[in-house]
Amino acid sequence: MNKIEQLAQELINWCGEQDNPGTKETHKRFYKAWEFMTSGCRTDIVSLFTTFEKGDYDQMVLLKNIELYSMCEHHLLPFIGKAHVAYIPGTKIVGISKLARLVDAYSRRLQIQERIGEQVTQALMDYLQPVGAACIIEAQHLCMQMRGVKKQNSVMQTSSLKGVFLQQNERGVAARNELMLMIK
Ligand SMILES: [Zn+2]
Repeated sequence: MNKIEQLAQELINWCGEQDNPGTKETHKRFYKAWEFMTSGCRTDIVSLFTTFEKGDYDQMVLLKNIELYSMCEHHLLPFIGKAHVAYIPGTKIVGISKLARLVDAYSRRLQIQERIGEQVTQALMDYLQPVGAACIIEAQHLCMQMRGVKKQNSVMQTSSLKGVFLQQNERGVAARNELMLMIK
């Protein structure tokens, strides 16, 4: 057994389920599941940015309703929801599937929701140099639903805005309005 499998076995023992035949191989499945659920921290972010010249297009690019599965760093329990990622191109655009991969890369690790959005927009600003970048996330947190305050229907929304989306002028207001209209 590797260390993670040992951890799983200890947890099973602690629950008193070590003699339950159903848990015989659970330590291996636990390890595989956790390897996948934290695979984002082993993703090479830079490699996601295969970019193209933008040509004539200089309006907003939005990929919305990207499924998001992450693990809360405080409780090691899942939070699940969707992300909307937008940018306004500078000189380059990125393959649209890469926006989804970027969300996967930052959500498949121990996280808090606020940081995923920040990391997604910061990576866009750093590697794509757009005029602006935005990431809106809405998620339900099992650590709130299964335990703690037990609020089954609460949805947490966070937004990370950078560049033009943050500007306190006409252009900034227009960019934010367009984004909100497109996400609806
Ligand atoms: Zn939590």
